Amino acid sequence: MSFKSLGLSAELLRAVAEQGYSEPTPIQTQAIPVILEGRDIMAGAQTGTGKTAGFTLPLLQRLSAQPPAKNGRRIRALVLTPTRELAAQVAESVEVYGKYLPLRSTVVFGGVKINPQTTKLRNGVDVLVATPGRLLDHVGQRTVDLSHVEILVLDEADRMLDMGFIRDIRRVLAVLPKKRQNLLFSATFSDEIKQLADGLLTSPVLIEVARRNKTSETVAQVVHPVDRERKRELLSFLIGSQNWKQVLVFTRTKHGADRLARQLNLDGITSAAIHGNKAQGTRTRALADFKQGTVRVLVATDIAARGLDIDQLPHVVNFELPNVPEDYVHRIGRTGRAGNQGQAASLVCIDERKLLMDIERVTKQPIPQIVIEGYEPNPSIKAEPIPNGRGARGRNQPSAAPGGQQRRAHHGSSRPEAGGNRPSNRGSARPAHGNQAARAHGQSKQSPGAGAGNTGRGGPAKADVAGSRRPQRSRRQRHNPA
Ligand code: AMP
Repeated sequence: MSFKSLGLSAELLRAVAEQGYSEPTPIQTQAIPVILEGRDIMAGAQTGTGKTAGFTLPLLQRLSAQPPAKNGRRIRALVLTPTRELAAQVAESVEVYGKYLPLRSTVVFGGVKINPQTTKLRNGVDVLVATPGRLLDHVGQRTVDLSHVEILVLDEADRMLDMGFIRDIRRVLAVLPKKRQNLLFSATFSDEIKQLADGLLTSPVLIEVARRNKTSETVAQVVHPVDRERKRELLSFLIGSQNWKQVLVFTRTKHGADRLARQLNLDGITSAAIHGNKAQGTRTRALADFKQGTVRVLVATDIAARGLDIDQLPHVVNFELPNVPEDYVHRIGRTGRAGNQGQAASLVCIDERKLLMDIERVTKQPIPQIVIEGYEPNPSIKAEPIPNGRGARGRNQPSAAPGGQQRRAHHGSSRPEAGGNRPSNRGSARPAHGNQAARAHGQSKQSPGAGAGNTGRGGPAKADVAGSRRPQRSRRQRHNPA
């Protein structure tokens, strides 16, 4: 199958060829002809499947088939995304694919000045990419006119609902023309998504390229059972001993992300944290540094990481498991893209036993467990409740409304990520000596037989903290640095 056979114009084919794409991905093969026909679609596709080109290419083709109105350009296509990063990436794709077409586009999102956006909007654009909050700010200030929108794209609709954007989406829908083409992309199809789709789409064509909750086969997954206080040490050890060059690490909270990035830097591993409390410029710079390789580890919360377009990411680490199993699927979807083998390692402490079981139930596969020598969980440590998970009420959070729809406090820079600190009597038990730990363990790894008896704790140090009823085929397996 070639892009040409999908019915795309010469200008688009040229732009696609410049990107080096030889053939369309499955979502592109299925979505492009249907969108070109003007049909509504409901597509199940995650980031990494090529979905952005899947809607951008036919959208641009449809717009370019009709010249802009004589009395000025009007916004004819609106793409809504949940995060600023995704908005920026989609806008970049629109620019790249539309390079040879006489169409204009721009992007609006919060966290940056509104005036330059207003100027661009006033100059006239055909395609607008936006996050819902900032778009509504523009609607409120009458600096955007959405009354001529012909095509609406809701990208990562499930995440928009997760983030409490449903009311904002409905407000946007209320100012759009009734007659339009609607393209809904979602990684999962919850009842809430189906409800949204029912009210939004007209006779949609259903497209699903990756089954719901299916983890990618090109991702090697592993769980490393470890005590909660030793996760950072273990992470430094894994990165150092295996010489991981580009690692995306997920934490549950913004504060956790900041703290971990700080600690890793102290360990001599260049790291940056990316989350909703960071200024947009800082987030963009951190991502650029990570892509270039000057920052080795990017520590991110789920929401900030959503939509990050990082090709061929070799390593994803769940420093803490997500509370929502589907987030696990999204997280590890960052690696192993486009046929490249990726590694997803989860550092799992005794507190997270249930979360791990939930993940394995949803993904319908047990994840192999490997206890790293020197980091064997201490069986005397008891499980503790996990503070400040998603849906929990952190100190900085507004109380959650039923259905989680009020997690977003207000438009603009605030992001509904779980806030609050972990109790301070937790993180301080061990000094930051990850490099020493990495060296010490790196040496012990060389000597066969070291490890089991040298934890200094005595007793059955190889307990499988992450679920004793599950198959334990690999728990004594030595870590293979290959
Ligand atoms: P997306 O799922 O839209 O975030 O796209 C994931 C990545 O796949 C992006 O880096 C795209 O540039 C890339 N991509 C999109 N379409 C193709 C294609 N047909 N062949 C190879 N790579 C592609």
